[in-house]
Parts: sequence; structure tokens; C-alpha cells
Amino acid sequence: MAVSFSRMSERKCAACGATDLEPGFLVESVPGGATVSTWLRGYAEFGVWRGLKLRGRELYYIEAHGCRACRYLNLYIGAPTSPPASDQPT
Ligand SMILES: [Zn+2]
Repeated sequence: MAVSFSRMSERKCAACGATDLEPGFLVESVPGGATVSTWLRGYAEFGVWRGLKLRGRELYYIEAHGCRACRYLNLYIGAPTSPPASDQPT
């Protein structure tokens, strides 16, 4: 599945104000490969047996746009993952 980047032209570097941002994303390792890192609204809750509780909560892909001028990494909330997260690793 492709994750698209939206409204790049409206974005400016939070550090220097430049508009020349290079699209990218954060990668995390998962069993069997890698995936795009995600963002979860709210506070982390941990269960007794399974660790971090994710069931029924909305996750969003993290867009990470690098500034070509100063190399600052600008993070944005991207598209929601689909379907919503479960507590089981995929
Ligand atoms: Zn910058």
C-alpha cells in the first residue's frame, strides 16, 4: 500500500522557514520486515499481559519531511492506518 503525502507546497520548515522540504518517513522494524512509524493520539496505556494497548485506537502514519536548507526533520500527522490497530502485531 502506498502512503501519499499531501499539501507539500503549503509546508515550511519549522526551524528556518524554508519551503524546500524533501518527503520522507520514519521506519521501524517489525517481525518479518519493516513498516512506517505511526502516531497515536493521547497517552500510552499498558496492559498486564500484552504491553501497549492499541485496540480500537486510531493510528496515523508519521510523515517526516527533511529540510534541504538546514536538515531539520519536520514531522507531520499523515494518513490514518487502515484498519484501526489491534493489540496483535501484524
Ligand atoms: Zn530548515
